[in-house]
Amino acid sequence: MITPLLPTYARADLAFDRGEGPYLIATTGERFLDFAGGIAVNILGHAHPHLVAALDAQAAKLWHTSNLYRVPGQERLAERLVAATFADTVFFGNSGAEAVECSIKMARKYHAARGEPERYRLITVEGAFHGRTLATIAAGGQKKYLEGFGPKVDGFDQVPFGDHAALKAAIGPQTAGILIEPIQGEGGIRPFGWDYLRELRALCDEHGILLVLDEIQTGFGRTGKLFAHEWAGITPDIMAIAKGLGGGFPVGACLATEKAAAGMTAGTHGSTFGGNPLAMAVGNAVLDVVLKPEFVEQVNRVANYLRQQLAMIADKHGAIIEEVRGEGLMVGLKCKTTNTDLVNALRDRGLLSVGAGDNTVRLLPPLIIDETQVREAVGIINDACGALAYQPAKDAAK
Ligand SMILES: *Cc1c(COP(=O)(O)O)cnc(C)c1O
Repeated sequence: MITPLLPTYARADLAFDRGEGPYLIATTGERFLDFAGGIAVNILGHAHPHLVAALDAQAAKLWHTSNLYRVPGQERLAERLVAATFADTVFFGNSGAEAVECSIKMARKYHAARGEPERYRLITVEGAFHGRTLATIAAGGQKKYLEGFGPKVDGFDQVPFGDHAALKAAIGPQTAGILIEPIQGEGGIRPFGWDYLRELRALCDEHGILLVLDEIQTGFGRTGKLFAHEWAGITPDIMAIAKGLGGGFPVGACLATEKAAAGMTAGTHGSTFGGNPLAMAVGNAVLDVVLKPEFVEQVNRVANYLRQQLAMIADKHGAIIEEVRGEGLMVGLKCKTTNTDLVNALRDRGLLSVGAGDNTVRLLPPLIIDETQVREAVGIINDACGALAYQPAKDAAK
């Protein structure tokens, strides 16, 4: 019999009662160090006093008015995002997938408004993840998400990971742009390298097409820069963000240059809830913290320490961990053992992590962690690897 809750998730049998910074307290009273971070969402940890105060204050005043009227919180957050990034303009939605949808529509509209409506196709990369709406599963191109949902939305051409020649060859008279995550998240923390991103920028300029970055997971300091493309020293034309922007409150946004957004005039796109006053109050509060220069400095300092410690663990437990990769506090442990075994072994020992493609375990901790929590996490990872390494020997002895 189907459960009242549609069973689309393979959930762990675990529920949480409350959070304190980088820790989660389960309904059983057990305490967990949260290196899942709500899948790269809770960048300021749980129950951050500044975010709680911002949400409380807004909740007592006004929740929702719709976009029939001006929303001051939206104007303020947009101005601040524009000041902090390449962008000239921002559209607010409620999720990552919506942010990518807006980006896709904008890229198509850009060419249509310039008299080239046939330029509607976006090149994407194998292993990508851009969300679960019909268009974003087509963009991601992963069979497991497309199967059974009817014809794939047209307009996406997928090329193999890191194959620059194939990508170049895929550009044709119908190409509107390239849609890519600077580091693949759900695909298994797979970095393309910053040179590759620079090459993509040059390619887009050469062909008059748009570079559309999905920084939903890599954004908001996760990689040690406010946005990952800053490492490459390039800027996109359009960028989708979400996850960290709300620190746990659902919100997403599509950022663009004035040129790329030129076709998006009144009536071309919209959302009832998008840019809701509650979401904007929290988004602005997140920026209060994240935009301080010492924020990303701290991320880089802690990340270096974590990476150093993980390199030692990977050396010691080569039978379990094949490679440590990623940037900043977006870390992938490419496993030799089954990644879900490691996720479970870590959870059994009080550390939350997230599985990903390419047999990888993701560590996406709140960006406010310090060296103490790194030591705690590394201790648990060491124990879990030791226990998993011991398993085959035990079986063999039977
Ligand atoms: C999470 C994620 C999305 C989808 O975001 P939702 O809020 O789940 O719709 C899209 N792209 C990337 C890179 C993501 O990490």
